[in-house]
Amino acid sequence: MAESVCIVAEFRDGGFRRVSFEVASEGRRLADSLGLKLYGVVVGSGVGDKAQELAKYGVEKVFVADNPAFEHYIAETYVPAVAEMVRQCDPAVVLLPASMNGKDLSARLAARLEAGLAQDCVEIAVQDGKLRAKRPLFGGKCLGWYEWSDGEVAMISCRPKVMSCLEPDDSKQAEVVNVDVEIPDARSRVVSVDLDTSGKIELTEADIIVSGGRGMKGPENFAMLEELASLLGAAVGASRAAVDAGWRPHSDQVGQTGKVVTPSLYIAVGISGAIQHLAGMGSSKYIVAVNKDPDAPIFSKADYGVVEDLFKFIPVFTEEVRKLKSAE
Ligand SMILES: Cc1cc2nc3c(=O)[nH]c(=O)nc-3n(C[C@H](O)[C@H](O)[C@H](O)COP(=O)(O)OP(=O)(O)OC[C@H]3O[C@@H](n4cnc5c(N)ncnc54)[C@H](O)[C@@H]3O)c2cc1C
Repeated sequence: MAESVCIVAEFRDGGFRRVSFEVASEGRRLADSLGLKLYGVVVGSGVGDKAQELAKYGVEKVFVADNPAFEHYIAETYVPAVAEMVRQCDPAVVLLPASMNGKDLSARLAARLEAGLAQDCVEIAVQDGKLRAKRPLFGGKCLGWYEWSDGEVAMISCRPKVMSCLEPDDSKQAEVVNVDVEIPDARSRVVSVDLDTSGKIELTEADIIVSGGRGMKGPENFAMLEELASLLGAAVGASRAAVDAGWRPHSDQVGQTGKVVTPSLYIAVGISGAIQHLAGMGSSKYIVAVNKDPDAPIFSKADYGVVEDLFKFIPVFTEEVRKLKSAE
C-alpha cells in the first residue's frame, strides 16, 4: 500500500511558481479523498526556508535538493534527483505542473518510474475509490477521462490556472528533509538567459488577456490593444496569423502551437476562432469576441460577442474603461 500523494513543485528565480501552490492544493484534496499523506519534492537553487511555503497549502513533508547546479532546469540533472526523491515519498499519485519544464520533466520521470502519465489535465476526481483525470484531446476538440490499473503509480501534470488554490494557512508547518542527491555531469548547460525586461505580464500567468488577430490589419494597430490592456492590467496576446505576419513576437502566440492560457477574461479582437486558436484559450473563464463577421466561429465559444468593426469599437470601449477606472 503506497504512503502518499506526492507533488513536485516548480522553483525558479528564487521562488515557487504559482502553479506549484495550485498543484499542492489539488494534492491536499486528493490525499484527503484517498486517505494518504501529502508530500512535496523541490529541486532548485536557494530554496532554503521557502520550502515551508508549501506547508500553507497542506503539504506535510517536503524533500528538498538545494544546490546551485539546479539553478536552471536541465533534464539530465533534474530528472535523477526528482526521481530519487519521489521514490522516497512512496507515492500512489504524483502531481506536477503542466508548465513548459513540468511537461518535459513529467514525461522523463514517468518513463524512469514506470508510472502512467496523463499530461495537461484540467480535472482530477476520485470515484468509488478509483482515481480519474480529465484532459483535452485533439487540440481541445474533446475531453478524455483517464484511469490507471490497480497498483500502477498515477502521474498527472496539471494545467496552470485551472485548479483552485486553497486559502493559505500560515499556522501550518511541514517537516523539511534536505536530501543530498548525486548530481551527474551534464552534457548540456545553460550558457545565458535573456530575460524579457519589458515588464510585460506573462501570458500564461495573466488574469486578463487582450488578443489581436489578422483583423488588426497591421502591427501599428496593436497600440490600441496595448492601451486597453494597460488599463485592465492585462497581457497582450495574438493569433498565429498576426505572429506569422511579423506583427507580434512568437512569445505572444496563443494556441495549439503557441501558449495555452486560462485567464479569467479573454478578449479576442479580430480573431476568427480557428480550432488551433481555440485549443489555446478555450478554457478561459469568460471569452469576449469582437468581430465584424456575425458568422465568425469565435462567437460559438464566446460568452459575450460584439459584432462591430474593431476600429470603431475598441477606442470607444477603451474610453469607457478609462472612465470607470478613474472613478474607482
Ligand atoms: C498545425 C497548425 C497549428 C496552428 N496553430 C495555431 C496557433 O497556435 N494559434 C493560432 O491562432 N492559430 C494557429 N493556426 C492557424 C489557424 O488555423 C488560423 O489560421 C489562425 O488562427 C487565424 O488567425 P486569425 O483568426 O487572426 O485570422 P483570420 O482567420 O484571417 O481571421 C481574422 C478575423 O478578423 C475579422 N476582422 C477583419 N477585419 C475586422 C475589423 N475591422 N473588425 C472586426 N473584425 C475584423 C474577420 O472577420 C475574421 O474573422 C495553426 C494552424 C495549423 C495548421
